[in-house]
Amino acid sequence: MVLLRQEDDFVYQRLGRSVVTLIGRDLTGLTLRSIDNPGVKLFRERYRRIAAGQTPSFCVMHGVGPSAIGENERLILPVHSEGRPGLLVYLRGRETESEILRSVFHASSDSISVIEAVRNDDGTIIDFRVVAVNAETARRLDMVPDSLIGHGLLEIWPMTAGNGMLQRFSKAVDEQSAAIFESRYMSQGKEVERELRLAPFGECLTVTNVDIAPARAASRSLEAQRNELVTANALLERRALASKASHDALQQTTRELREEIRRNKVLELELIHLARHDSLTGLPNRSYFEHRFDEALKSAGETGQPLALCVIDIDLFKEINDRFGHAAGDSVLREVSQRLSAALGPADFVGRTGGDEFAAILAGREDDASISTAVQRLLRAGMASFALDRQDVPLSISVGVAIYPTDVTSARELMAAADMAVYRAKQDGRGRPVFFEPQLRFEAERLYRLIGRLSKAIELGEIHPYYQPLLDLRTGQIIGFEALARWHHPEMGLISPARFSEALDVPDVAEALTRRMIDAVTEDLVSWDGQAVPTHVSVNVTGFDLRQPGFAAALNQKLAAKGLSSRQLAIEVTETTVLSRDADRISETLAELQRLGFGVALDDFGTGFASLSHLLKLPVGSIKIDRSFVSGIETSQRTAAVVRSLVSLAAALDLDIVAEGVETREQLDLLRGLGCHLVQGYLIAEPMPAGDVPSFTRSFALSPPGRRRLARTAP
Ligand code: C2E
Ligand code: CA
Ligand code: CA
Repeated sequence: MVLLRQEDDFVYQRLGRSVVTLIGRDLTGLTLRSIDNPGVKLFRERYRRIAAGQTPSFCVMHGVGPSAIGENERLILPVHSEGRPGLLVYLRGRETESEILRSVFHASSDSISVIEAVRNDDGTIIDFRVVAVNAETARRLDMVPDSLIGHGLLEIWPMTAGNGMLQRFSKAVDEQSAAIFESRYMSQGKEVERELRLAPFGECLTVTNVDIAPARAASRSLEAQRNELVTANALLERRALASKASHDALQQTTRELREEIRRNKVLELELIHLARHDSLTGLPNRSYFEHRFDEALKSAGETGQPLALCVIDIDLFKEINDRFGHAAGDSVLREVSQRLSAALGPADFVGRTGGDEFAAILAGREDDASISTAVQRLLRAGMASFALDRQDVPLSISVGVAIYPTDVTSARELMAAADMAVYRAKQDGRGRPVFFEPQLRFEAERLYRLIGRLSKAIELGEIHPYYQPLLDLRTGQIIGFEALARWHHPEMGLISPARFSEALDVPDVAEALTRRMIDAVTEDLVSWDGQAVPTHVSVNVTGFDLRQPGFAAALNQKLAAKGLSSRQLAIEVTETTVLSRDADRISETLAELQRLGFGVALDDFGTGFASLSHLLKLPVGSIKIDRSFVSGIETSQRTAAVVRSLVSLAAALDLDIVAEGVETREQLDLLRGLGCHLVQGYLIAEPMPAGDVPSFTRSFALSPPGRRRLARTAP
């Protein structure tokens, strides 16, 4: 669409048909200000800036109009139309940048072709092969664009051999220098005047062929007119003056034309750059990176030198984004991309391949050892902390490395191997490089099999909750149970979560497990009803569950349908989960669960890295002190002091505090001394099957508090 400047606003002058479809109505003639849409207000400001700066811009925008919900891309070019300043805007649903370039390419009224050098054995260019031509090129030749692809230049335009054009093209590629020249030659039996603009990139050359005959003809006729006027000068002074004026105008036009041609050329290069680079960091984008990766691999195959692919992931980027905001996240991405670029050698290159994922190719090194040195340098560059708004943001990266041909023999395998390595780097505690080894592939395959088997087991009902009691030391009463998943494997027997929790990183599996556990727990609650059991159970859930829209309401319905109350169920969520991606969303679900009457406990407290004050702001009713603290209080004064202050803080905030993993009498006494009265652990009982819960509770409650021998139940 074309927008023209009108005072401090813009008016839609022309809209393409697909823009009208995308926006949902025809806006021709309207001003931006007259459109009542918050999105429009946003980009009016942006348009103003682009028009003022006179530089093209590419941006992604959200939710423009009634039918264009979602993201769309705009390529905004400052132009003059009818003598007025304005903007030419290419608008489209989010697709790849190269598709935008392609549409500009095909819409051009100039003939544009991309050709690739063909060299003989001693490296001299002897011909070019057609890689792409636009519609106009094909029209001038009266052919279908695709039918030209792959053909030789000399075959299609034999005259290029004789008129010096082949030499000019070769020179542009060999010297990697752009050129503009004019040429006159025979085409389809007619003599044509053309301006040719050459823009090389690697072995390819973009040739833009502009028909300058109309401009030439105009210029010649004006020139003739001027001569006439000059001869008549002596006789007709007034006409001579007019001639002078027209001459000036002509020169002005010529200057403007030249300037226009120069601007178009700059624009063309910019468009190519835009299509291949990420607008935030300026690094090659995924598709361009892959293209260069293929080339690097090809040349490594020829030289026999090893080539390393490093997949680089910023650690805890989501957390940085959530904590400091998106602008901060963007600065981090820019910072990391600069650091990575600076750490690379001359034959290396880096690209941004995903949100917080980068990839680098290390090439031109003699052996694996020098690759290893280069990887270390890359890692060091990524590790220094980063000053943001006068705060120090700790920054670290994980790097997965795979080497061709040491580890693998194809591009696809190399990508997969580097991905496996970076996955392992993240698992192993981040901030370090992991070099691919065959073991990683076996582990990946093993995990893949585990995911399949566990899904099946959940479906077949092989997963059952085991119940571990929570004891209140003040009354000696069992006040509830935690449900822990156990897999009754037909051959391997009882399997604990330690052996399958890895598979819970897969959203579908984690959600299916939660559903299965909640179904089984609610059934058990119903079956215990009336048996004098404290029917309060907590269930462990994951971030995937809490991010589901409507999770809390669905849970509430499920309980109501079985005649149970939300007071009978609590959910446990780990500190790491509440700090993860979409922390706000998770927080909302927790708050809603609390509103509906469910208990919410913060699990594994003290194992994450978040600040205490941050955690205590979360909508939770109790916190569970991790086993590592409990086992530490016997030996470490410091740990005991931490637990004591936690207990008083929890009391001040009216939070229950539960100590997990109590294994010894000493721990129990110390905890009581520190004021922590709710305990759970093997000392009281190991997790037990549902059928054992009623008798366990009854026998436990019968003994007087304090004096009873603590019961042990075999699982
Ligand atoms: P968790 O939620 O921290 O559960 C406590 C774990 O400590 C349980 O291991 C329990 O058996 C164990 N434990 C209890 N008392 C003691 C003790 O005195 N000493 C020692 N050494 N260990 C004790 P389990 O059942 O193997 O579960 C491990 C983790 O797996 C759980 O940690 C929880 O994060 C996860 N998990 C268990 N069941 C489920 C489930 O249904 N869904 C999900 N999403 N995760 C689950
Ligand atoms: Ca738990
Ligand atoms: Ca725990």
